[in-house]
Amino acid sequence: MTRRRLFVTTALPYANGPFHIGHIMEYIQADIWVRFQRMQDHVVHFIGADDAHGAPIMLAAEKAGKSPEVFIAEVARGRKQYLDGFHIEFDNWHSTHSKENTELSQDFYRRLKAKGLVYPKTIEQFYDPVKGMFLADRYIKGECPNCGAKDQYGDACENCSSVYSPIKLKNPYSTLSGAKPVLKASEHYFFKLSDPECKKFLREWINKPGRLQSQVANKAKEWLEGKDEKTLADWDISRDAPYFGIRIPDIKEEKYLYVWLDAPIGYFASLKNYCDRKSVEFDDFVKPDRGTEMIHFIGKDIIYFHTLFWPAMLHFSGLYKTPDQVNVHGFIGVSGEKMSKSRGTGIDPLRYLKLGMNPEWLRYYIAAKLNAGVEDIDFNPDDFVARVNSDLIGKYVNIGSRIAPFLSKYFNNRMPGIPMVDFRGRGIPAHTGLAVAITHSGAIQSAFQEREFGKAARLIMEVADTINGDIDDFEPWSLAKDASTNAASREKLEHICASSIAGFKALTLFLKPILPALATDAEKYLRCGTLKWQDLVLPFSAEKFLSSGHEFGEFKPLMTRVDPKQVTALIEGNEDTRQVNTPTTTPAVATESGTITIDDFNKINLRVAKIVNAQHVEGADKLLKLTLDLGSGTMTVFAGIRTVYDPEKLKGRLTVAVANLAPRKMKFGVSEGMVLAASGDGPGIYLLSPDSGAQPGMRVK
Ligand SMILES: [Zn+2]
Repeated sequence: MTRRRLFVTTALPYANGPFHIGHIMEYIQADIWVRFQRMQDHVVHFIGADDAHGAPIMLAAEKAGKSPEVFIAEVARGRKQYLDGFHIEFDNWHSTHSKENTELSQDFYRRLKAKGLVYPKTIEQFYDPVKGMFLADRYIKGECPNCGAKDQYGDACENCSSVYSPIKLKNPYSTLSGAKPVLKASEHYFFKLSDPECKKFLREWINKPGRLQSQVANKAKEWLEGKDEKTLADWDISRDAPYFGIRIPDIKEEKYLYVWLDAPIGYFASLKNYCDRKSVEFDDFVKPDRGTEMIHFIGKDIIYFHTLFWPAMLHFSGLYKTPDQVNVHGFIGVSGEKMSKSRGTGIDPLRYLKLGMNPEWLRYYIAAKLNAGVEDIDFNPDDFVARVNSDLIGKYVNIGSRIAPFLSKYFNNRMPGIPMVDFRGRGIPAHTGLAVAITHSGAIQSAFQEREFGKAARLIMEVADTINGDIDDFEPWSLAKDASTNAASREKLEHICASSIAGFKALTLFLKPILPALATDAEKYLRCGTLKWQDLVLPFSAEKFLSSGHEFGEFKPLMTRVDPKQVTALIEGNEDTRQVNTPTTTPAVATESGTITIDDFNKINLRVAKIVNAQHVEGADKLLKLTLDLGSGTMTVFAGIRTVYDPEKLKGRLTVAVANLAPRKMKFGVSEGMVLAASGDGPGIYLLSPDSGAQPGMRVK
């Protein structure tokens, strides 16, 4: 077998905040694939980095009262706890704000310019005269030119869905300063994607079989071949100061490379940083004809950049190879609701870890949901509990727990021999469970290779089902009763124990890319060293796989079941962690001085509310579902007060509610607001009440 040499990346996360579940899903997907390749003895360099440039980071840093350098360094320091926590093993994590990236990006620019593919052009853009900067579309709002709706963004109307240029907005204003923007001319630099040579190259690149998933290739072709105004336009790769980025070299004016030019070059910068430290030849992984493969894992939102701009940049640099594969995945939603960074819905990965939930539960669940397509996947709490408990605990771990005591008690904790029959000359063992493991191994291997992880998980569980079926059929517990006196029982017990534990070893091997920590513990019990795919090749040799007389270690419980309460706590905790998820949109409640203005306070619409109904919520032992009368109408609120209040006694009483809290979808329904209660370090939750005379709907201020 030839050893493949792979350079694998995940998309670079924007360094304006911590990871969300979407990042973690992508890293788990790539990490499983990488671990699988390593188990085949291939050479893999698995590389990540922060995408640290651009106006949003510059502005977020300014808002936080920090320099952009300090801001991104703080974000970078937070990465490790997530990556370690979910067993995601990058070889290197770097930043686009680095010496390597500056050198590489400026070199790319010079090479593309020398090819005649970069040209200057003066364009007019909105400029904020107060802030002193040009405004990207997202920083301009105004009235929709079509329907007149107020406060619409510079590129599209959320009310009537029409799309327009920001210049068309009526009464535009800058969201940064509130000032009326003015049109101002500036010289920009463009990458000539419309060049016939460039289009010809991209056409060939996109169409190469095996490089892109068919849906992705079709999307890229659509952009490339679009007609008239939809045709692939030249790409504006420069930004004016002030900007946090990499200077455009060889010109007098202070201009910067657009963040999307230097971001993918960050893959190379991180690899270079790694190679320099490890004395690996960088050129081998980035230059053509060195027999190495470059593979990107990305989300479907950045296909445009990775299938058009990035390959064109690489090819026309005249120096580098282009990606061999761009593997695109969909988004992850929670209970059917789309993950949204701005609304902060979803599962907070750090909260998941802090609740003591096993990271490998999530790795397995995500693997079981993933295939090689670009469809979105859904995290469903009930499905999560059922899948992990039934597959991992009920099927895989169960085999070890069932057989280890017999090995210890009747065989001196050693391997009995595996009985063999010559099945089509392939050395297949007599018992079906292990035979199915061996005959399935090729299909499982292909499924991993093709990123069909869901299919791999299904096949692996088929093997586990067969082995458990064997155990049920043989009833080792009955055989053990007279094994010391009955030779036939003794032989049967030997057979079922040997075959089942060998099957367990095969399952451990199959699951290892998904469950690296669990597999390591199982390897310790099996005393088998580090499992590799080559351990299970045809013709199968039982003696090589688990030789008779081999001594096992001490069997310890390998994994606990998911407690549904933990999942409930995870989902219900979203509100608490919302600000962690969205540092750029956190309301200015806690300013640097720790005080708020009266305007900040007035944003909270507090109302006297009458509890007209209160009831228990099935499956939630902390929640009560309250129906509140706010004078002008009613509102449903889920409140975490079940442990201290009897719902019957709450009916009719008055309390205080937050009436303008964004509705939150919970497992049990939508919570439209919040009631106020006091609590301290000790037990007890105390609902607030107004003095007598207050009426539902009165404003609290
Ligand atoms: Zn409109």
